[in-house]
Amino acid sequence: MKPFFEDTATAFAIKSDTALERAYFLFKLISKQPLVKLGTLVTNFAIKAGMPVEGLIRATVFDHFCGGISETDCIPVMEKMHEKQVFSVLDYSVEGKADQAYFDQVVTKITSLISFAKTKPYIPFVVFKPTALGAIDLYEKVGTTQQLTSKEQADWELIKNRFHSICKAAYDQNIPLLIDGEESWMQDAADALVLEMMKTYNKDQVLIYNTLQAYRWDRMDYIKDLLEQSKYDGFKVGIKLVRGAYMEKERLRAKNYGYVSPICETKQATDHNFNNILTYMIGELEHISIFLGTHNEESSYLLIEQMEQKGISLKDPRIWFGQLYGMSDHISYNLSAKGYNVSKYLPFGPVKDVMPYLMRRAEENTSVAGQTNRELDLLSKERKRRKLG
Ligand SMILES: Cc1cc2nc3c(=O)[nH]c(=O)nc-3n(C[C@H](O)[C@H](O)[C@H](O)COP(=O)(O)OP(=O)(O)OC[C@H]3O[C@@H](n4cnc5c(N)ncnc54)[C@H](O)[C@@H]3O)c2cc1C
Repeated sequence: MKPFFEDTATAFAIKSDTALERAYFLFKLISKQPLVKLGTLVTNFAIKAGMPVEGLIRATVFDHFCGGISETDCIPVMEKMHEKQVFSVLDYSVEGKADQAYFDQVVTKITSLISFAKTKPYIPFVVFKPTALGAIDLYEKVGTTQQLTSKEQADWELIKNRFHSICKAAYDQNIPLLIDGEESWMQDAADALVLEMMKTYNKDQVLIYNTLQAYRWDRMDYIKDLLEQSKYDGFKVGIKLVRGAYMEKERLRAKNYGYVSPICETKQATDHNFNNILTYMIGELEHISIFLGTHNEESSYLLIEQMEQKGISLKDPRIWFGQLYGMSDHISYNLSAKGYNVSKYLPFGPVKDVMPYLMRRAEENTSVAGQTNRELDLLSKERKRRKLG
């Protein structure tokens, strides 16, 4: 297969010259670690001090990585992406809140997003994070089978009910749901809950997707067990396959508490695990649907090759590719131009509430230097192409 992600005219077709310049400028800034650190500090301070910086944030980093402040505000962005057959996964990215009122508000929000998705042909999935429905400490306690107080027991029932409410709404409206993966110490309890949801709502088709983080060396066993159970109990499996976003935190915690880190020792080992799990899942397509969440070109080509070898249609509804909005457009738009199913996670929410998400994007791009340089190379190639053209 000939590589085709380098086509920058296709990759950036919906970007105006101004948006292209902004992206180039942003990634240039992001590539400089001290600037990101300083920018993060100053912006946090300015927001806390009530300084009028929202307009500036919105015109720069926010509009590059987010779709808008509400789902309706995202419509123009989603429609534009859809012109090129790139779909949207609206990601309500308000982070850092953790009380019962907020957890209930998230249920209302996600349920309304499911109804919203039903009316829009360009939203194939809705997504949520388990810790947006309950406290992370409680997931950890449940996952490690610690004794719960009666209050904790009641709170855990609330979490379960919240899961059921959202999944039932997705089932009633026939909208697939992606459930994000988070820190390993809360993930066992979340995995068990998602399994319950799959057993209930994935009987005939895949509506509920769990996330599998391939940087965890135990995840091949996890997927094998899950598939075995699905065959035994008669339900289908949905998996969003990613590498995993919490590596530093995971390693630090394992070191501090003195247990073996759940993360593969090297990047190469993670890549190997990721590709093996992907290959295994493709062989089980009768029972599983796959959402491949990655900016890694090799992994994306691997899936393409496997689809070719097995004669799987490009538009097979069991296979989706996914990237984050504002990143790796060369993968998304070149895939959609060829006819593959592609969607972008499109974060949205009030500017000050999505700041933690934006900070993480900036920090992640700074630490994954290879990806930032790749974005810069592609953007500069396209700038040159437009100047010459
Ligand atoms: C659509 C989408 C949805 C996502 N949803 C989630 C989610 O629900 N939960 C979640 O945790 N993440 C999620 N992510 C983020 C994802 O896990 C990765 O952090 C991110 O995509 C970078 O990995 P990559 O495959 O794109 O690229 P690459 O650049 O090839 O890989 C980088 C990743 O490799 C791993 N890695 C890097 N260095 C090492 C090392 N020294 N040793 C071992 N492993 C290493 C880390 O996981 C790192 O993030 C999502 C990403 C996308 C695109």
